[in-house]
Amino acid sequence: MYWKKLSHEQIKEIVFKALGENLDYRGERPILGIPGTYLDTSEFYPDAPFLQDAPYMSAMVRNPNHIGVHTLSDKSVLEVFEGTQKIERELIHLVAEEIFNGEPNGQDGYVATGGTEANIQAMWIYRNYFIKEHGARLGEIGLVYSEDSHYSMPKGANILNIQNIILEVDSETREILKSSLEEKIKEARSNGVKYFIVIANLSTTMFGSVDDIDMLGDFFSNQNVDFRIHVDAAYGGFIYPFTNTTSRFTFQNPYMNSITADGHKMLQTPYGTGLFLIRKGYIEYVKTEEAQYIPGKDYTISGSRSGANAISMWMILKIHGSEGWKYKMETLCDKTERICKKLEKMGVEYFRNPYNNIIAIKAKYMSAELADKYYLVANSYEHKAEWYKIVVMPHVKPGTIDSFLMDLAGELKSKKN
Ligand SMILES: *Cc1c(COP(=O)(O)O)cnc(C)c1O
Repeated sequence: MYWKKLSHEQIKEIVFKALGENLDYRGERPILGIPGTYLDTSEFYPDAPFLQDAPYMSAMVRNPNHIGVHTLSDKSVLEVFEGTQKIERELIHLVAEEIFNGEPNGQDGYVATGGTEANIQAMWIYRNYFIKEHGARLGEIGLVYSEDSHYSMPKGANILNIQNIILEVDSETREILKSSLEEKIKEARSNGVKYFIVIANLSTTMFGSVDDIDMLGDFFSNQNVDFRIHVDAAYGGFIYPFTNTTSRFTFQNPYMNSITADGHKMLQTPYGTGLFLIRKGYIEYVKTEEAQYIPGKDYTISGSRSGANAISMWMILKIHGSEGWKYKMETLCDKTERICKKLEKMGVEYFRNPYNNIIAIKAKYMSAELADKYYLVANSYEHKAEWYKIVVMPHVKPGTIDSFLMDLAGELKSKKN
């Protein structure tokens, strides 16, 4: 994994050049047929002096539409924004090939609104693949995921009318129980499910736990059923590959067919930046032929979307370079490690994946008031909390960590007495 760091000046130059290659609604060329324009000028006036030094804000004000998928070879969708769409294409190549080790030009993708959309986009593609290639009926398609998975899974299954198959995890290690996998798939098969869309988590939201993608892949291979694995790395996609150099979540692993990686979680980009990546040859299963007015058709759930979002992801990755981002993520992991060591000394039980910055602490060690004071999130708000989690994000200061640990130690001491 390697890409070079750029300076702010270099980034500015590339983004402004790309904006210059887009057709400008204020430019010489007549634009009469497009139902889009620049942002309303009463508030977003284009001659605000700061914009000259602010490539992302400038892109927002110019408002390019990145509708469609730009890694496909057919004629670029809405050519008028070709300049900034090239940046999105470069972003997809960078993440797919450098971070997730894909072959050059081996993947398609786009900047979705978030992890929810990217996960549902994957399910939609595989559902249609099973229908088109195998004549599957809806009742024969199952969505397999662990009980620790994000709620976008049941949401997607509901929208797409496919069956939920929910696997139990070990209450301590948060690993998918092989016994549950065997039992649930046997039951599903006897109920007529023949095709499996399988989710492997590269960091669950609550625990930061990581599913064993090879165990899942081997299991379904041995069952002799048709399946595809989608990786939900909405949370972990921009930390785990940097902290674990032997990650199995790469496109070199034949089991990984597609992946979600949110910009707006660990990468600190604005909301509306959920990256979706998939091996070439699949996105065509959701081509909307009826998208008559879009040259090149549409393949996404979202339709129109902001080009500025794609630019923001590209900018963050480029300003750090691969080495800079790795350093930043390793530093977060070091901070997390320090908290874990202190918890151990205090005899407090927790769960943590060593490559992530999430610590789930057993709820019995602290009062609800203490959890509330530091905005720790509970695993359930319907039932009694069993876990509270700490997420060591970049805004978390050592002083805050210290005072939390002191408060916790105080509670534990008064309990003993
Ligand atoms: C946040 C998250 C999602 C959903 O992402 P949104 O961007 O909020 O739609 C999906 N999966 C996991 C593991 C997440 O952490």
